[in-house]
Amino acid sequence: MTILQARGVVRSYGQTPALRGVSLDVHEGEILAVTGPSGCGKSTLLHCLAGIMRPQEGEIHYRGQRIDTGSESVRSKLRRTEFGVLFQFGQLVMELTAAENVALPLLLAGTGRREARTAALTWLDRVGVADVADNRPGQMSGGQQQRCALARALVTEPRVLFADEPTGALDTLTGEQVLGQLVRVTHEQRTTVVLVTHEPRVAGYADRELTMRDGVLDETEAGIAVPSGRHGR
Ligand code: ADP
Ligand code: ADP
Repeated sequence: MTILQARGVVRSYGQTPALRGVSLDVHEGEILAVTGPSGCGKSTLLHCLAGIMRPQEGEIHYRGQRIDTGSESVRSKLRRTEFGVLFQFGQLVMELTAAENVALPLLLAGTGRREARTAALTWLDRVGVADVADNRPGQMSGGQQQRCALARALVTEPRVLFADEPTGALDTLTGEQVLGQLVRVTHEQRTTVVLVTHEPRVAGYADRELTMRDGVLDETEAGIAVPSGRHGR
């Protein structure tokens, strides 16, 4: 079943085209990797799919609902309740402990302190870093920080996790451990994952891989049924 669908998505930065008509279907429960060289448009695609950035042309549908044209309040609610994001650098709040960082999205959503703390500890345990729950990021290794960021991205139990070069800042071995954890925990929770990376090795962890070049996806791989008419290119 398709959970997220893009059709003919176009996005430029001034004169620089980043996406030149991208169509894809993300299937519920899969880990989809989008790979390609630096600058080919992967981050832009991820930002558009996650409702962080609006495309200039095309359509994005999430569970049958058009989201690229939705009001900012609708999009922001979607980002808070249905989507989780993980970036290259975990972007943890340096002044907070691991548990406080992970609890943050729940507190912002109105969950009580005690319940948020319990959930945070559960998630830190799930990703294998329960032992650093009361450490601040400065007292954690890169891998521990990224696992903590993963726990924070998943604590709200999103249906879709968007990951942008999630291991880009880690050494190979640590990166593989974090990825292994990401795959295990998202499959366990049946979370759909869209992962963008320029590292072929990372894409090896995905269920399916699409390649991007100069703002377009290889559509022979995308396997989408492009209806005739306005959705086509
Ligand atoms: P990737 O994630 O594959 O490295 P990006 O989506 O980051 O690709 O970038 C696609 C293209 O858009 C590149 O040419 C990049 O330089 C350009 N670009 C991305 N972000 C911006 C921005 N904020 N302002 C101007 N150009 C940008
Ligand atoms: P990624 O590693 O995800 O591809 P980049 O390192 O390309 O990201 O970009 C990091 C940030 O810089 C992003 O916010 C992106 O929008 C911005 N950016 C990328 N390329 C350019 C550009 N040519 N001009 C201005 N901003 C850019």
